[in-house]
Amino acid sequence: MSKLALLGGKPVRRPPFPAWPSPGKEDRRALLAVLSSRAWGIGGTEIARLEKRFARLHGVAYGVAVMNGTVALEIALKAGRIGDGDEVIVPSYTFAATATAVLNVNAIPVFVDIDPETYCIDPQSVRGALGPRTKAIIPVHFAGHPADMDTLTSIASERSLFLIEDAAQAHFAEWGGQPVGSIGHVGTFSFQSSKNITSGEGGMIITKDEPLAERCWSYHNCGRSPKGEWYHHPRLGGNYRMTQFQAALLLAQLTKARKQHRTRKRSARYLTSKLNGLLGISTLKVDTRVTSHAYHLFVIRYDKEQWSGLERSTLLKALNAEGIPASRGYVPLYREGFLAEAREFTLRHRAYAERDYSGVDCPNTERACKEAIWLPQNVLLGSREDLDDVVRAFHKIREHKDELAKVQS
Ligand SMILES: *Cc1c(COP(=O)(O)O)cnc(C)c1O
Repeated sequence: MSKLALLGGKPVRRPPFPAWPSPGKEDRRALLAVLSSRAWGIGGTEIARLEKRFARLHGVAYGVAVMNGTVALEIALKAGRIGDGDEVIVPSYTFAATATAVLNVNAIPVFVDIDPETYCIDPQSVRGALGPRTKAIIPVHFAGHPADMDTLTSIASERSLFLIEDAAQAHFAEWGGQPVGSIGHVGTFSFQSSKNITSGEGGMIITKDEPLAERCWSYHNCGRSPKGEWYHHPRLGGNYRMTQFQAALLLAQLTKARKQHRTRKRSARYLTSKLNGLLGISTLKVDTRVTSHAYHLFVIRYDKEQWSGLERSTLLKALNAEGIPASRGYVPLYREGFLAEAREFTLRHRAYAERDYSGVDCPNTERACKEAIWLPQNVLLGSREDLDDVVRAFHKIREHKDELAKVQS
């Protein structure tokens, strides 16, 4: 019998990595306080407290709490007056919401490539995609690594473009000492279950700009005006409000989040030092201007040529069998079905009818989609022994790579 767990052997580890989320006393207390207050939505205090605290943590004046990170992007786009037929530049290696939010405000996503070393949006590729219809850029701080905000800020100001930071994966990340989300015109966050700070679902929009904050607030609250009458709707908004339960839970999470952030960074340094010695395995680079990486994911680049042609999918199965929750990650967004769906159904603008995504080819994205191995952030909350198990699993599979390459179908 093989030593590999995938082929019937004993796995490197059986116990799961630290559970995520992992509720404590303080979370229960916070939720029960809202429950007995009977102010579950409008009229409670927790949402306003959360907005203030989150904004202050990012050195900005305004925060608007919303239902999730997807609507945060849609509201930010509307507040930036992005709509009918405008072009918005987005990276092609990101979660679908970065692009679907653009389509959902009747604007047109323009996909650009990523930097092969960090997997973040490539500013040179952004320059190449600028055109007369370009109105906005949405850099994504992928995996918690800040995008090159120096260059993107210059491009945006040269061309008067609206700059939205998609910081859904980057709570507490910093670029040149500045918290991400506070550098562009507006920053959006997600508190969905997998994210580094979570309330199951949830989102936040932050900005320094008062009129922009006022528009975001209005769009998320049925088009109301902050000082207007309740049944007065000067804008075309929707109801995207958060509940007081989510806000209370997030306030409790925030008090623990800094420490978890530091633990992830320490673990990432350790894993980086241990894994980079292994042939065919390398970790993503960290730009020298990054002063804090949020490590929502720990990303490994896999070169199968160095592993006897062992397919990534087989390696992933073998890792999972050894007890390591590794996964493959994204596919290129420009080939997703939602682009055609939008054409048939909602987005009738001539400029969209004329746009052909079939010719889009971003080689670094294509490569990332083939080579990437993701480890989720909760792995990084583990102990040294937990991390050593990750390293041990890679070494073990590598020792048996020829045997495994032979049986892969
Ligand atoms: C999670 C995520 C979103 C969407 O957030 P939800 O809260 O799940 O709607 C947007 N962009 C990126 C990059 C994400 O990872």
